[in-house]
Amino acid sequence: MKGVRVVVTYNCNIMCSHCKYGCSPLKKGIMSPNEFEERVVDEYNRGFEDYIMIEGGEPFLHSGTVFKYMKKILHLNTKKYIVTNGFWGGLEPYTDILQDFKRNGLSGIVIEYDYFHSLFINMNTIKEAIIRARIADLDVKLKAVFVTGNIKDKSDIKTFEYIKKLKNEFNGIEIVFDEAHGRDREEYILPSRRNIIEKERVVLYKSK
Ligand code: SF4
Repeated sequence: MKGVRVVVTYNCNIMCSHCKYGCSPLKKGIMSPNEFEERVVDEYNRGFEDYIMIEGGEPFLHSGTVFKYMKKILHLNTKKYIVTNGFWGGLEPYTDILQDFKRNGLSGIVIEYDYFHSLFINMNTIKEAIIRARIADLDVKLKAVFVTGNIKDKSDIKTFEYIKKLKNEFNGIEIVFDEAHGRDREEYILPSRRNIIEKERVVLYKSK
């Protein structure tokens, strides 16, 4: 699988201590739809064409702009995902918003949830987000960060409990595991993760 990951903003409604890009409510700005189109189509034409992953920051804080991105890449035949912290799970309008995204080519969403996110967002909100996304017929994956490889750290034990509960309640939901920021150095990268990095282009928003 060769794909493109696009970090479109560093603006986020929360501030996780492990955040790879130091995202927070204080960071402003978002990639313009024209820049998004130019850079993503460029990578796609170079062969990174199996998926396009839109992430931040929190993309759903800027649904209007992300909607314009979807229109710009409507013609590209690839899987399209948005990575989110699911803060919108309890908000009714998101059922319609997600259906609109689906109609404009979105394949699914990746919801980040682990000990670090649980300090800001409770699990019921995540459950509601999963239900809304499934109503919109979107594929839903969960992404969790682990600090250690043997689940001995307090945060990893909590993360494991959360994931287990969600997996039991939402039969068949796929889990994507990630490593905490700071352990992402070459000597810590698992061979499987290294393989992903070599096959993925990361396009970063250059904030002013
Ligand atoms: S929700 Fe994601 S983007 Fe936002 S601060 Fe946490 S890790 Fe960073």
